[in-house]
Amino acid sequence: MRTAFRGSVFHCIADPGEQDSEDAFVYFDDGLLIVEDGLVVELGKADELTESLSADTRIEDFSGKLIVPGFIDCHVHYPQLDVIASYGEELLDWLHRYAFPREMRFADEAYAHKVAALFVDELLKNGTTTALVFGTVHPHSADAIFEAAAAKNMRLIAGKVLMDANCPEALRDSAETGYEQSRQLIERWHGKGRLGYAITPRFALTSSEAQLEAAGRLAAEYPDVWVHTHLAENHAEVEQISRLFPWSSNYLDVYDRFGLVRERSVFAHCLHLQDAECRLLAGSGAAAAHCPTSNMFLGSGLFDLRRLRELQIRVGLGTDVGGGTSLSLLKTMREAYKVLHLQQQPLPPGRALYLATLGAAQALYLDDRIGNFEPGKEADFVVLDPAGTSISAHRSALAESISELLFALIVLGDDRNVAATYLQGRRA
Ligand SMILES: [Zn+2]
Repeated sequence: MRTAFRGSVFHCIADPGEQDSEDAFVYFDDGLLIVEDGLVVELGKADELTESLSADTRIEDFSGKLIVPGFIDCHVHYPQLDVIASYGEELLDWLHRYAFPREMRFADEAYAHKVAALFVDELLKNGTTTALVFGTVHPHSADAIFEAAAAKNMRLIAGKVLMDANCPEALRDSAETGYEQSRQLIERWHGKGRLGYAITPRFALTSSEAQLEAAGRLAAEYPDVWVHTHLAENHAEVEQISRLFPWSSNYLDVYDRFGLVRERSVFAHCLHLQDAECRLLAGSGAAAAHCPTSNMFLGSGLFDLRRLRELQIRVGLGTDVGGGTSLSLLKTMREAYKVLHLQQQPLPPGRALYLATLGAAQALYLDDRIGNFEPGKEADFVVLDPAGTSISAHRSALAESISELLFALIVLGDDRNVAATYLQGRRA
């Protein structure tokens, strides 16, 4: 059956760039988004399309609200809901003081399922329809998040963490067990419905060379799975990498040596990069996840979007909870704006939305399925309500253009401005 969603509709068809080029997005003040069997059929002006609708087409009216593609979170740790808002450390101390102790709790399978269900509900409440997600070292942590996402028909990529060094004994796998457990999870989940698997070494500091080698072997054996890890987040981390891997010419070289830099590799943070690393990211087709709330919360540094995009490196936004402070990509977009402002770089609203939708889909090599409303794509979308809070209602009523309205939602919005989230045309 066909459903037509009426309202203001905005989506990107390319990167609008620093000047928010109007050629890169499409906007209908009174639009109609037509969906059938979970896929986009057509998008256009309501007064032009309404006449051609068949009699049995159901219409859902969101007049006064803004329909945009579902948000895509390119980097987040679901078990770290437990440590969001933990005070006062930089990355390495924060991991040891907060993240690792709480991740041990996920040895309890029932607990993992409970947090996974809460996490998926929170994503949907915030308008996030796809995410690339870290579990813990426990294989059932991946089962738990996949089951929670499948129950909602949500498109989600996840993996169990590989970690066999420089961490508590209780959170260690080994090169062999990590390989075998990941392989079994790939066989069980990758490509099942809307789910995908990511080989997930935490970062090079917590994996032995044998484990990185095993991860690379897996990446070669399963070229269509993702690789998901961290890169150059913190100065102390980068320095330790050069000590632990003295043969490496830079941080990314460590991953590259083991075959982990390729299409569908997503590196969170990418703050302290050498030029050679940028060139390798660009040449390999790998992507960067920009996590502004985390980078500021942990005092890690400022992401240089211009430098990466000039090389056409794929970039999406990540919330990086629990180093990040919110699962909301609206909040993440506004922090990205501020981080770039500090570096004399603009982030206009269309481009901010691009980074959370089509840009993220391109980073994940999913832009043939999601990211905007081109016909045939999966109808994942968010209905934003400018009147979600009294201040956003007041400010957005004064907006004189879609850019002004979108920017007000980005700067003021949160889950209260998400009126509804749709997965393949069905309300989540
Ligand atoms: Zn992270």
